[in-house]
Amino acid sequence: MQFSSRRKKYNTNSQTELYLHPLQFYGQPPLENISLSEFEAFAVDRLKLLKTIENLGVSYVKLSEQYTKKLESESKALNFLYRPDKRRKDHISHFILRLAYCQTEDLRRWFIQQEVDLFRYRFNELHPKQKLEFLHRNNLQYDTISVEEKKALQDKLVNSSYAVSGITVEDQDFYKVPFQDALDLVRTRKVYLKAGYVFIPHQDIVTIVLNDFRTRLSKALALTARSLPAVHSDERLQPLLNHLSHAYVGQDYSIQKNVGKISLEQIDSLSGKSFPLCMRQLHQSLRENHHLRHGGRMQYGLFLKGIGLSLEQALQFWRSEFIRGKVDADKFDKAYAYSIRHMFGKEGKRTDYTPYSCMKVILSNPPSQGDHHGCPFRHSEPELLKQKLQFYKVSPSGISQVGDASFSLNHPNQYFIESQKVLGGGKDLKREMDIPQRSQENSATRGPSAAPEAAANASQELAEVTEELDSFFQDA
Ligand code: SF4
Repeated sequence: MQFSSRRKKYNTNSQTELYLHPLQFYGQPPLENISLSEFEAFAVDRLKLLKTIENLGVSYVKLSEQYTKKLESESKALNFLYRPDKRRKDHISHFILRLAYCQTEDLRRWFIQQEVDLFRYRFNELHPKQKLEFLHRNNLQYDTISVEEKKALQDKLVNSSYAVSGITVEDQDFYKVPFQDALDLVRTRKVYLKAGYVFIPHQDIVTIVLNDFRTRLSKALALTARSLPAVHSDERLQPLLNHLSHAYVGQDYSIQKNVGKISLEQIDSLSGKSFPLCMRQLHQSLRENHHLRHGGRMQYGLFLKGIGLSLEQALQFWRSEFIRGKVDADKFDKAYAYSIRHMFGKEGKRTDYTPYSCMKVILSNPPSQGDHHGCPFRHSEPELLKQKLQFYKVSPSGISQVGDASFSLNHPNQYFIESQKVLGGGKDLKREMDIPQRSQENSATRGPSAAPEAAANASQELAEVTEELDSFFQDA
């Protein structure tokens, strides 16, 4: 891509060719000149779309009717349509976000996940003929088998393919695919395998295509990351790209400006006043059992790091609690201290781990028996959640609101900061951690707030992003 202050019409044959089909693997970067304002507008719109996908993915079953309807209407609202004249925007905006989201592993993971979900939705919306065309255009030379072959293999196909239960084989297209292209389906024994080929029902072909898309995108992001030094040397783009990436996965709370501003003695009282429910629960379990399992140590340890505990304080905090239980100091130093240093980027790959967002808490590593990590609003039985909230003296009306709420995107450390602001305490913290974030004072007692509110927050945030980006370009 080239950037100029004025947009020029510039279409090569291959570019036109790319837009013939509604869907693409984004194998070729756009070659035209675009204006900075278009660059910015496209990027913000795609982020809006990806953010919607993220929100919908935790509120609805993917590809369910509601999910599809909402995604369709958001795509329309943002002008990401299937019409050929709109495909340019889709193409360019994807590549802009590659630049913004290739910068760290977390950003790459987030971007790949949303793009794969968008791709899944779009692929699913294609007419069967368009699907086949897409496969062929992208050298996935899979063909459907003939009616005769289907009849001959009927029993085998029905018995081996979950997807066809309830649907007659005659109504179903089957693709013949080399087995090495469908290892996931072979591994999970979901397909009929014969002479090096698997026979994949129409619905399952998406698995293959998605795997391919994910792999290509992951490689492409790694390659894009290598070109970052060149991009960063462009002073017009660097702040914009950084802003774009932060605007949508949110602040990562890894900035350690406030290290040492909290004393260990303050933690008990802070946990009652300013910790979200998940952290309060972890703190209480730690105090009661003098132990937390790995998932809990990671979730709580990174949260404490984010609110300002230094490595030395963290070691002291965990050691003093663990040795009150069954772990002696020697065992602590051998078995646990390493992982705490690891969390702070002092061991292993020396990754400076960031505190978990609500999304990460909710979607990864669900708690099992004996675990105390996770999000109580998502992982606790409603009755148990009610009891916990009563225990923490949440009013009955507050509790009933929690029961009605669905999911919104928050961050436990953001909750902590906002709570400190509301309480007017932690003035030092407030000054040090003065990060522009939307207000969500009540989220922990209210639970994950309603999805419409999430959308409103996202729009508000977008408006802010756009304003800031506008002023950036005016200043530049
Ligand atoms: S919504 Fe977020 S902050 Fe609140 S309890 Fe769940 S994970 Fe913790």
